[in-house]
Amino acid sequence: MSFSNLTLIERSLAAVWHPCTQMRLHHAEGEDALPLIPVAHGKGAWLYDFDGRRYLDGISSWWTNLFGHANPRINAALKAQLETLAHVMLAGFTHAPVVELSERLSALTGGALGHAFYASDGASATEIALKMSFHFWQNSGRPEKNRFLCLANGYHGETVGALAVTDVPLFKAAYAPLVRQGDTVATPDARHAAPGETPVDVARHAAAALEVKLKAEGESIAALIVEPLVQGAAGMAMHDPEYLRLARALCDRYAVHLICDEIAVGNGRTGTFFAHEQAGIHPDLLCLSKGITGGYLPLSIVLCRDAIYQAFYAKDVRRGFLHSHSYTGNPLACRAALATLDIFQEDAVLAANRQRAEWLATALEKLAAHPEIRHPRQCGMIAAFDVATGDPAFPRKFLRAALEEGVLLRPIGNTVYFMPPYVVTEAEVALLGAAAEAALARL
Ligand SMILES: *Cc1c(COP(=O)(O)O)cnc(C)c1O
Repeated sequence: MSFSNLTLIERSLAAVWHPCTQMRLHHAEGEDALPLIPVAHGKGAWLYDFDGRRYLDGISSWWTNLFGHANPRINAALKAQLETLAHVMLAGFTHAPVVELSERLSALTGGALGHAFYASDGASATEIALKMSFHFWQNSGRPEKNRFLCLANGYHGETVGALAVTDVPLFKAAYAPLVRQGDTVATPDARHAAPGETPVDVARHAAAALEVKLKAEGESIAALIVEPLVQGAAGMAMHDPEYLRLARALCDRYAVHLICDEIAVGNGRTGTFFAHEQAGIHPDLLCLSKGITGGYLPLSIVLCRDAIYQAFYAKDVRRGFLHSHSYTGNPLACRAALATLDIFQEDAVLAANRQRAEWLATALEKLAAHPEIRHPRQCGMIAAFDVATGDPAFPRKFLRAALEEGVLLRPIGNTVYFMPPYVVTEAEVALLGAAAEAALARL
């Protein structure tokens, strides 16, 4: 079966229901049009259509791709795994990739989080963490601790359970009657600094609000879930690590679990392998997904402290964590994750990314001079800025303009961000900056 750009788009619009999309916009004309990009193949940081036109993947294909498309080392590891074992159920069976991956991830937490539970997507990881915390308190004789706290504008996935702690009205409002709503506490988003305030001040105010909440209602709260350092879907809202230090201390004081959702910010994205390392803390539960397989296969992981695991270990089957998915711990996905961890090690990626982060800083600095730009900000391999515009169609207009410049940049609301794979060159980072500037000039 052969495709061209046109036939692929037509057949996709006829047969595929695309995510996060009002499909009608793909049929709209002019100002409103939302493009659908046919991708024939990918190589390194680039995506190619059927006519050989290429786009620089400035957002790592929704924050998943770490080491480029068609990475030779990940490809080779997967081919070898394919010849060995593609899949086996993980209840009552085990295999080398899942064991090795669990051991290596535990080691990356310094042994603090010694048990790994597997699923296939981020939202499921969120739900697993929430269920584990809830069930932990039940098993510990404190069933009244059954509510969850999340940060304002936080995002933890879109299944009905995950929406309980996702504070994005656009994704949630229509389903509100289905959701057992968590409670929202102040975000430490550094953009909220009053004149003269530092990000640390904002972090302390937000922690003070958390303390008020925990003092009043901590007895009924199971866990606080946060996206450490960067609230991604909120529009790359960044905060000082001080918030995590204070939140950790408060969670300890009021016997509340701290869940770090590092689905977006893990895997070296913020400069350390895990974002929470920058606060010198450990969470009780840690969610990973997205980049963990290098952007190759769906996989998510919840790491937990041994004390949580132990609360489920009993004669009574019902005290166990009976959650499962058909593809729990899939060997191919685990192998892709192991190959990804190998690259981190062999190429000293965290150190090499310090140079890449400097290139991003240079690109951001140039853009910051633009009169329409607000709050230029960066955390490791994420650079972002807001655009002063009230145009609700800004995201797709900018996306279209950037595509015409040969780069994939997909704003969240009026926030434009660069989140490239860890293989971009200095010239490619400069192209991201120049394309953003040209796109802004066109609008
Ligand atoms: C993407 C994301 C999720 C959800 O992951 P899916 O695989 O899309 O379900 C959860 N939390 C954060 C922080 C994310 O960025």
